[in-house]
Amino acid sequence: MTVSFISLGCAKNMVNTEQMMALCRDAGITLQEEQAGADVVVINTCGFIDSAKSEAIDTVLAMAELKEAGSIQKILVTGCLSQRYQQEVLTELPEVDGVLGTGSYSDIVPALQGVLAGEQVCRFGNIHAPIEELDRVRLTPDYYGYLRIAEGCDNHCAYCVIPSLRGKYRSRKMEDVLTEAEKLAKEGVRELIIIAQDITRYGIDLYGERKLAELLPALCRMDFHWVRLHYLYPDEITPELIEVIAREEKILKYIDLPIQHCNDQVLRAMNRRSNKEELIELFGQLRDRIPGLVLRTSLITGLPYEDEAAFEELCQFLQDVRIERAGVFPYSPEEGTAAAKMLNRVDTAEAERRAELVVDVQSRIMDDFNESRLGTVVEVLCEGWDAQSMGYVGRSYAESPDIDGRIYFSAEREVAAGEFVPVRITDTMDGEVTGQLWEEN
Ligand code: SF4
Repeated sequence: MTVSFISLGCAKNMVNTEQMMALCRDAGITLQEEQAGADVVVINTCGFIDSAKSEAIDTVLAMAELKEAGSIQKILVTGCLSQRYQQEVLTELPEVDGVLGTGSYSDIVPALQGVLAGEQVCRFGNIHAPIEELDRVRLTPDYYGYLRIAEGCDNHCAYCVIPSLRGKYRSRKMEDVLTEAEKLAKEGVRELIIIAQDITRYGIDLYGERKLAELLPALCRMDFHWVRLHYLYPDEITPELIEVIAREEKILKYIDLPIQHCNDQVLRAMNRRSNKEELIELFGQLRDRIPGLVLRTSLITGLPYEDEAAFEELCQFLQDVRIERAGVFPYSPEEGTAAAKMLNRVDTAEAERRAELVVDVQSRIMDDFNESRLGTVVEVLCEGWDAQSMGYVGRSYAESPDIDGRIYFSAEREVAAGEFVPVRITDTMDGEVTGQLWEEN
């Protein structure tokens, strides 16, 4: 049997794809990158907001054309879209031969055998079940890799369906996390990216206390060059954690801290536990204690209770706190969420207009940040040759893979992908920066 995997959505979902691929490999199934010619194409979907759902459905329809043309035999849909709509996926998309929920990733091999035997597979395991420790076939380049330390979420933000798709918060045992990290280091990972729906809550469920501040130094003692943190929840950030981030050299001075909004009434209605004053205070503590810190956040415009004044307040807040990196999303009312029942909100067109305005505000902040780096020398992880710019491309501490810009640089010698090199920033270009290799000799 030959199988091709398509991984959609976030890095956490990609880890599930990698785990399913390892189960297939261990079962003697042939994995191929190309979809055409595969017996089964597995689409591991995202489904938490409209745009993600559309991408998943478009991908299914594209594979349906290959199936129609006889280039592939079967389509298996896994992940969050399956979990959310279950049997409906099969009735609405008859081209699909089977569905696996987020509690059934480890059933991938029997599911593949089932669809190839003509069975309409439909498996939805317990999404709150203890986490299975599974091997992975990594989809990232050798030199960086994701380490998912927990699954699910207990924060229950009013606009979010993720807890109902991924289950309650479950930390992995620290020894399992450390064992996997050791393996990643041996595989050549130099940049370790720590992920979960909320990494700051790590350990609370399993050990009765937060354990991230204890886990990070242990990871830093391993043969990684960089440790990058994603998905920190504002009011879960303790002074102890700030100390560890500031003290550990390998921990990048880059923090991904989704806040979604700043208006107290909006935050309260969205069941977010920090108010504006607390967010400002937290940013102050972080910037005071961690010089050169780059903050990333995610913002939603058009949420219920966001009237014109609240929106203006958000724009002013962003200009005041100057967060260097941001993902901006127009609110998408998701059925099954508390927020979707709140009708005091603007329409989608207005939410999108506001998102564009926030993107403008953030673009100016990002440009100012890039300007401030001119003439500085930064350590860059080279990611290879870029034919378009006829130079090398890479990332510094301030750029995370796939979500931030990159650094384009020239060099008078060959630079290998995965090599860390000093680059002098010489110019800015469309939200990104350019530079040149800056070695003493
Ligand atoms: S923290 Fe909130 S937004 Fe993030 S996954 Fe959990 S419930 Fe959703």
